[in-house]
Amino acid sequence: MTDEPITIPPLPLHGGCQCGAVRYRIEEAPLTFYLCHCTNCQRQSSSIAGASLLIRRQALALQSEPAILRWKADSGAEKSGGFCPSCGVRLFHGRLDGGPDDRITIKAGTLDDTSWLRPVGHIWVSSAIGGLDFRADDLVYQGQPPDYEELKARWSRRLSPYSAGVDPET
Ligand SMILES: [Zn+2]
Ligand SMILES: [Zn+2]
Repeated sequence: MTDEPITIPPLPLHGGCQCGAVRYRIEEAPLTFYLCHCTNCQRQSSSIAGASLLIRRQALALQSEPAILRWKADSGAEKSGGFCPSCGVRLFHGRLDGGPDDRITIKAGTLDDTSWLRPVGHIWVSSAIGGLDFRADDLVYQGQPPDYEELKARWSRRLSPYSAGVDPET
């Protein structure tokens, strides 16, 4: 099966919560997009999976102040995420104030335009709901991937040359 190319729309990408009180811009090309089927993501998204668009922290421009939620992951790592204080919609996970890495995952269902999104991988499929068909070329992990390098490489490979923020020379 050949991969359908992914075309990142012109930057910045825009998104926000359901009521519109918290809006954001993404000013650099996202690094990868995957679905997380862990039970934590199922619950926080109140859906079947978390939709994670990975970006650099510097790429995120918040146009209003989100409320911040902190929790401890099973690994013991301190996690943090932002949500709208009015409508409660979760907008992103990751630390805005620094922290051990500079990654933010945008909850991709909050983008104004979701039509271009194609997940390149699925993580924590051991707790996925039944009846999902993964594409032959998808990266599939039973649990947590060791890092995000494979997911990033697969994403880069699938980007069309018309994608925003992609330098065809590199
Ligand atoms: Zn809201
Ligand atoms: Zn998850």
